[in-house]
Amino acid sequence: MVNGGCLCGAVRFRVASELHDPIACHCKQCRQQSGHFFSAVPAPKAAVQFERDEGLRWYRHTDIAERGFCGRCGSTLFWRGDEGPDVMVAMGSLDDTGGLKLSGHYWVDFMGDYYDIDDGLPQHEGVET
Ligand SMILES: [Zn+2]
Ligand SMILES: [Zn+2]
Repeated sequence: MVNGGCLCGAVRFRVASELHDPIACHCKQCRQQSGHFFSAVPAPKAAVQFERDEGLRWYRHTDIAERGFCGRCGSTLFWRGDEGPDVMVAMGSLDDTGGLKLSGHYWVDFMGDYYDIDDGLPQHEGVET
């Protein structure tokens, strides 16, 4: 179990499950919304329990998912698909990442041209593994 929240504290949550295999998404939408690429870890939707959520806002940019953020401080927090069991929890929101290590890069065909990926992790175009 890990705790997390936004920069200002208007969103605080705990993730009541084991976490595995954070990923980095390099798609344009993630880069635009987060400011760079989006590093996040999947967690079962029901395992994310809010202690404070008065800052929590959801923005729907596509018809398949919405993005959670703090409406007060702007912190990027979640990506939640309408389908599927998991919500992606932003690594930067976690108080303690507990030894979790990035496992791969996704949507690298849409990565920015202003950086390189040279950490030796698998790189995927789109979401195929
Ligand atoms: Zn906040
Ligand atoms: Zn993305």
